[in-house]
Amino acid sequence: MDFLTGLRPLLFTYVLINGILITLQTKEEVLLDMRATGGELGWLTWPLDQGDKLGWEVVQRTLNGSQFYTYSVCNVGEREQDNWLRTTFIQRHPSASRVFVEIQFIVRDCNSFDGASLTCKETFNLFTSESDADVGTTFRKSQFRKVATIAPDEITRRNEVRINTETRVVENLSRKGFYLAFQDIGACVALLSARVYYKTCPATVKSLASFPETVAGGENQALREVSGVCVENAVSEELPRIYCTVDGEWVVQVGQCQCKPGYEEVQDACQECRPGFFKAEASNHQCAPCPAHTQRLSTGALVCPCMDGFYRAPTDPPSGPCTGIPSAPRDLVATTTQLSAGKILLSWTPPEDTGGRTDITYSVECLRCDGTACQPCGEKIRYDPGSVGLTDTKVSVSELEAHLNYTFTVEAHSGVSMFVNQASPRANRPPSTSALTTYLHYTDPPKIMAIRLVERTPTSLSLSWDVSPQPRAQNRAVRYEITYRKNDETLDGTTYIVHRFEKNSVQINDLTPGTVYLFRVQALGTDGSAGGSILEEHFETSSEGHLAPNNTAIIFISAIGAAAMLFIVVVILFLRRRKRNSHTRQGPEDTYFSSSDQLKPLKTYVDPHTYEDPNVAVLKFATEIHPNHITKQKVIGVGEFGEVYRGILKVPGRKEVTVAIKTLKPGYTEKQRQDFLSEASIMGQFSHQNIIHLEGVVTKSVKHAMIVTEYMENGALDRYLRDHDGEFSSFQLVGMMRGIAAGMKYLSDMSYVHRDLAARNVLVNNTLECKVSDFGLSRVLEDDPEGTYTTSGGKIPIRWTAPEAIAYRKFTSASDVWSFGIVMWEVMAFGERPYWDMSNHEVMKAINEAFRLPAPMDCPSAVYQLMLQCWLQDRSKRPRFGDIVSLLDKLLRSPDSLKTIADFDPRVSIRLPSTSGSDGSPFRSVSEWLESIKMSQYSENFTCAGIVTMDQVLQMKNEDIKNIGVRLPGHLKRIAYSILGLKDQTSTLSVFAV
Ligand code: AMP
Repeated sequence: MDFLTGLRPLLFTYVLINGILITLQTKEEVLLDMRATGGELGWLTWPLDQGDKLGWEVVQRTLNGSQFYTYSVCNVGEREQDNWLRTTFIQRHPSASRVFVEIQFIVRDCNSFDGASLTCKETFNLFTSESDADVGTTFRKSQFRKVATIAPDEITRRNEVRINTETRVVENLSRKGFYLAFQDIGACVALLSARVYYKTCPATVKSLASFPETVAGGENQALREVSGVCVENAVSEELPRIYCTVDGEWVVQVGQCQCKPGYEEVQDACQECRPGFFKAEASNHQCAPCPAHTQRLSTGALVCPCMDGFYRAPTDPPSGPCTGIPSAPRDLVATTTQLSAGKILLSWTPPEDTGGRTDITYSVECLRCDGTACQPCGEKIRYDPGSVGLTDTKVSVSELEAHLNYTFTVEAHSGVSMFVNQASPRANRPPSTSALTTYLHYTDPPKIMAIRLVERTPTSLSLSWDVSPQPRAQNRAVRYEITYRKNDETLDGTTYIVHRFEKNSVQINDLTPGTVYLFRVQALGTDGSAGGSILEEHFETSSEGHLAPNNTAIIFISAIGAAAMLFIVVVILFLRRRKRNSHTRQGPEDTYFSSSDQLKPLKTYVDPHTYEDPNVAVLKFATEIHPNHITKQKVIGVGEFGEVYRGILKVPGRKEVTVAIKTLKPGYTEKQRQDFLSEASIMGQFSHQNIIHLEGVVTKSVKHAMIVTEYMENGALDRYLRDHDGEFSSFQLVGMMRGIAAGMKYLSDMSYVHRDLAARNVLVNNTLECKVSDFGLSRVLEDDPEGTYTTSGGKIPIRWTAPEAIAYRKFTSASDVWSFGIVMWEVMAFGERPYWDMSNHEVMKAINEAFRLPAPMDCPSAVYQLMLQCWLQDRSKRPRFGDIVSLLDKLLRSPDSLKTIADFDPRVSIRLPSTSGSDGSPFRSVSEWLESIKMSQYSENFTCAGIVTMDQVLQMKNEDIKNIGVRLPGHLKRIAYSILGLKDQTSTLSVFAV
């Protein structure tokens, strides 16, 4: 080991500061080094004159060719030794109150001196004395204080030389300098080296703050706080500080410097950002590349300005990308809802080019045109949720007037839309608007306020009625339907007579004298639907005796009049029958008709089986169509009796219409033919917007039997919802339910029990209108694939059927209400199979044990509550269809009521056995899992995103699901909920007890 170096190398220490490992360097400043002096040291020995008693002696030695001096003393045989060796005056650094004394020495073993064991020592002492000046050779023992007794770790025996190194600290120095002294008390010691030094924390730059070299503190100031200054082009919010420890180490830096905007840190200095890079703030970050759609500047850029045609919104960070004006919203459509007249739903798809922004909102403007001029709609119409700031791509518009053209302009806005008028190539056009003109055909029918008798004779009654004011109806001819029968007649369906008029008065002839008649007057909607309220009154014809006996002239004139009237009626009837074939739907039949084979019972449905000859029933309720007027185009489904086609109905003199044609397969029996046609006999009795409309039948052709109905473009509801899973809002779904409920109300008002209400038996047209279909006498028993034989031999669609109907075939409108509840569930669950893959037996058992289907995902609480009401065990407590329609209307009028979502348990509703596949084993692959939740269409998205294991799936957050391209909110939720369910181990179906 080389002891001869004057300045020790820097010591390296590693310290963790704020979790970051940094290297700290300790530096030693040497005040005295015996070896380095290289010549006589001139140290003072004491006592000065000892005669033959020798004290400390200087000895010259050679080691590795170098000469150096040592001191030694060895008076081991002498008593009371007190030999002192004092250094020269050591100047102290003003800050160094603590110095280190490192000595190397040899101590001889006392046992090696024969007879000296009593006086021989193996230790010596270190002393110090402070002074403000060199006192020369003046030496006073009393001025020295003891620092330490020095004992060797290893003693030198005979020829085995053992060198010891010891370091002692001399603390609390305060004067200009000091002496050290070594006191020998009878040992045999050689002092080979003495080095006196103090420690400093070296000058350093840390976190862009530079700190000066600092002398390490002493006992009374163990940590020295040192302030630093920021390097050039760096700034700091608070003065940077650091601490220097007694061991000369920097620790705990407080406050740091950061490069100014436009500069970044490069090796403890701040350098300007390179071209194409920028830094907007003072931070530790490096300069970032200029973001999208910005210009590259030269060095030192604070921001990158926007390229032409791109902007930053006032709220955008200056460091963010620049964005463009959004393009126009697309596919703007207006959908009429059946909720109330004067209301439409405008919807559109987001702009193709959002300009790179996510804060797209929409505003709607409206112009109304009455044929001559257009003007802004102003406050005349109402928007829900509003006309500006829309974040959804839809708005409901109400209080529209019929028979006006409305032009709606939907504009897309974003945070940079305010720049739209700035001169730039992208902004030359108003790019964000999309317009649509719509014409409203419907309006609420007015209310009948009172029916008055104007005049009566034995055979006629003249009536008029008052209607509620129609402030907004312009030039609209209101039509009325008046129905009457003798008051005492039974409701056998043959006694009602119907008239339709455009006037609010009528004279009814051919009545029986002295008879009370029941009259009902109802205003019709402009689409012909009987939507208004009905007012009933009884009026009596005068009896014959009341005629003046001598008034034969009047009788004669009346008779002629009556005959003429009868003739007119017959002619009109004849014309009407021809005309009727030229209407696809309830057309504007404004003529009087009352022929018995055209009668339509308004209130009560007539079971065609009550007719002895079912063919008579068909002819009574349905219009015969000539087969040549029907063209089949394409098979669209298969029913019990044969194929169902889409086709064209073209009756001469009438506009052709697209229809659905149900056929009876060849080789049918007469019974099958009658059963087939019974559906038409039933359907033909109904006339309602939400009941599938019968166009007519083909019965007379020997070869063919066909039922022709209106064509519903979107087919069966269950399949349609499954194909559009997640694509409709709750508002739209509730709108669909409302339609079905209105149809069912109509049926129940007519005392018709459907028995097989299910989403598969509801059809959807292209305006999302839902209509109840599948009427037939045997169909519940025979046709429905869901039909299951019960112990009593009947066939029942168990999952849709109320318990009392299953148990003892008690089919009523209340059991239809139960089925309607299941349909509501199917709708909210986008066509999910009720009770999933539970067996019919399990379903019946669960229902009897008071379990009910759980709320579908995202189902409004109010809607789920209604479902539960429909599934009350006690059928008398279930709501009636009238109540259901009112409640759904209420929900639709205040869409906020749909915002509270019923509790949803993903484990039950998605029917995931938590962590496992259908066989109970864990999902083996992402695709197996996706298949189980019917989301296989996203398999590729997962693979492309590198999500290939279930472990990775479990790590996914909602944001990740969105990022891999799952955009539809319903699908997003389904996947997210499923992941939630996967994480949860405790899945069971038994959680939906009521
Ligand atoms: P059904 O015998 O009434 O159950 O009809 C069988 C299938 O034919 C249905 O599930 C529908 O897909 C289709 N279909 C029946 N009637 C119509 C219609 N009016 N419009 C469109 N599709 C229909």
